Amino acid sequence: MRVVLVTMALRVPTDPSHWITVPPQGYAGIHWIVANHMDGLLELGHEVFLLGAPGTTPVAPAVTVVDAGEIEDMHAWLNSPEAATIDVVHDFSCGQIDPDRLPRGMAYLSTHHLTGKPKYPRNCVYASYAQRAQAENDVAPVVRISVNQARYPFRADKDDYLLYLGRISEWKGTYEAAAFASAAGRRLVVAGPSWEEDYLARIMRDFGDSVDLVGEVGGDRRLDLISRATAMMVLSQSTMGPWGVVWCEPGSTVVSEAAACGTPVIGTPNGCLAEIVPAVGTVVPEGADFTVEQARSVVAALPGPDAVRAAALERWDHVVVAKEFEAIYHDVLAGRTWT
Ligand code: UDP
Repeated sequence: MRVVLVTMALRVPTDPSHWITVPPQGYAGIHWIVANHMDGLLELGHEVFLLGAPGTTPVAPAVTVVDAGEIEDMHAWLNSPEAATIDVVHDFSCGQIDPDRLPRGMAYLSTHHLTGKPKYPRNCVYASYAQRAQAENDVAPVVRISVNQARYPFRADKDDYLLYLGRISEWKGTYEAAAFASAAGRRLVVAGPSWEEDYLARIMRDFGDSVDLVGEVGGDRRLDLISRATAMMVLSQSTMGPWGVVWCEPGSTVVSEAAACGTPVIGTPNGCLAEIVPAVGTVVPEGADFTVEQARSVVAALPGPDAVRAAALERWDHVVVAKEFEAIYHDVLAGRTWT
């Protein structure tokens, strides 16, 4: 099939003359999701047109990077003669593409990666049952975020730090991760962008002695941090999130990324995490009230790296997940629709 993958088109915050590429230069979950899914489609023999990430280096001859990032340019390309031979548009842009502006009859589906209802619910696939329930939908397909093991180095011997990797925000539970690490007597490495200064100041005031702030990471540094950590901390909190709805962790890219490296996950039950963490780690309650005994026993009982990686690949391997989407592409081409 000739598949268009549309990523969320975003400019690099520190260098707006460039677009975030696939894979991304730094923090950007959707761009990693698209990178791993593209790998899966290519292994299944499909041709991919990547829209929304100008400047991306194609990973294979079967990839065409379309030079369109502005929303109007993306719609124009989808309506151009070049796009006339496309079989299906798979839209990860979370509302940038309006399906009503596509050429008549062009097969279309989207994948939702935010909390709350999608802007265009037609033919939307969710990353978790919790996310789908929050969108008040009970018929749409649920397909997990995939991971290509070739992109994530396995490491059996771990260092003794815990890792927080992501946006440093209240709903992502960075403060609670620091509280847990402090109770467990471990250092917490905190990697990611910080746009909420008061929140970060509160973390450093209460747990600064055991937190190593390393800023946003990319490339080998990011992989090294993930693969060496004792555990990835994903203590997502069901507090008010960025779009005026209670945060429900939608799919959590870092869970499959950590697990593919053999790094177990400690997560709350918020959103998707109750569905995916038990296979690769341990679920702990929301909030920051961890006793020393509780935190230490959670760390001591984590599953081993081999079991974690095997569980991740069984469930979320990029080819396994690409086959699930391939079946949905065929359904959409056959005229199936859902909202
Ligand atoms: N990430 C990164 N560098 C950082 C922090 C995060 O590359 O400094 C990546 C991380 O590996 C993951 C993504 O950003 O792929 C975060 O996605 P996730 O779904 O975990 O969180 P959200 O999209 O909700 O922020």
